[in-house]
Amino acid sequence: MNRLLFGISGLPISSGLKNINYATGIEYVKSIGLDAMELLFVRNVNVTDKNKDIILKAKLENDFYLSAHGSHYINLNSDEDEKQEQSLERIIKATDGLAKIKGKSLIFHPGFYLKDTKQEAYDTIKENLRKLPSREIDYRLETTGKSTQFGTLEELVSLCKEVKSCKLCIDFSHIHARGNGSLKNYDDFAQILQYVLEELGRTALDDLHIHMGGVNYNEKGEKNHLPLLESDFNYVGCLKALKDFKVKGCVILEGPLVEKDALLLKNTYKVL
Ligand SMILES: [Zn+2]
Repeated sequence: MNRLLFGISGLPISSGLKNINYATGIEYVKSIGLDAMELLFVRNVNVTDKNKDIILKAKLENDFYLSAHGSHYINLNSDEDEKQEQSLERIIKATDGLAKIKGKSLIFHPGFYLKDTKQEAYDTIKENLRKLPSREIDYRLETTGKSTQFGTLEELVSLCKEVKSCKLCIDFSHIHARGNGSLKNYDDFAQILQYVLEELGRTALDDLHIHMGGVNYNEKGEKNHLPLLESDFNYVGCLKALKDFKVKGCVILEGPLVEKDALLLKNTYKVL
């Protein structure tokens, strides 16, 4: 990647189009100045042989970046082997869907600790990630927002070192919520990027996938998304750190205002 792209999660909300779909959504999002969309495969893989051609056409014509968010029912550390298998299948199916439209990254939350120790969960998840076929799409492990979920920055960075097919998705809002409001100042964001740089090298910052948005949380972690300006998420500090570290890749806005807040991020970043 040669720059930092900005985009949205799911379909835009204020296009005025009656029957908006991924293809018309891409055209609209591009027309207002954004470059990326994360398709939501959270319930099912909604790229099929029926709609793949129009989505791919819109993507190519608009020089657009596509990623997808995998199923919420992935737990690579389930107590039941069968559920671990099903989780792997869900990941593979999602990459199949994404491949049809030349998507770049599949983002997912790897699992839950359940009754296991953190080390046990780590080892099981690592073993399972190693079973995934290597392909052109990157498996992106997302930092998670709740203390019951596997996926601290440290855990995921370590997995990315050990499993070649995996890359990082830093969800700054999740890190903030998981720490009960821990990311306050520029330095808090800079520290994260410095850590990734030291552990994974410059290549990680040259192709990073990022989520951010306003977030509501308590001591247990994330509760729900909020509009940026109605939250305490220091998006200016975050964007400034991304700029200073010359991070390239893709920033996906998650939140109820969708493209409006994504444009706020992009326009803020531009003038920093
Ligand atoms: Zn997520």
